[in-house]
Amino acid sequence: MLNKELLKILACPICKGELILKGDKLICLKCKKYYPIKDGIPIMIIDEAKELNREEYKFKDDKR
Ligand SMILES: [Zn+2]
Repeated sequence: MLNKELLKILACPICKGELILKGDKLICLKCKKYYPIKDGIPIMIIDEAKELNREEYKFKDDKR
């Protein structure tokens, strides 16, 4: 699992915005994209960013 300290210094490579950890994904709500986490290492590569579907960014208000 990713630790919270690490999460704090991570930012979306596209918009430099805040990322939200959800399961094995780091989600950017601004870009509506997520970055996969493989073996505990977030793949912060723009080309690896995947589109979020509507289901996945519904938790918007739950910012933790
Ligand atoms: Zn972003």
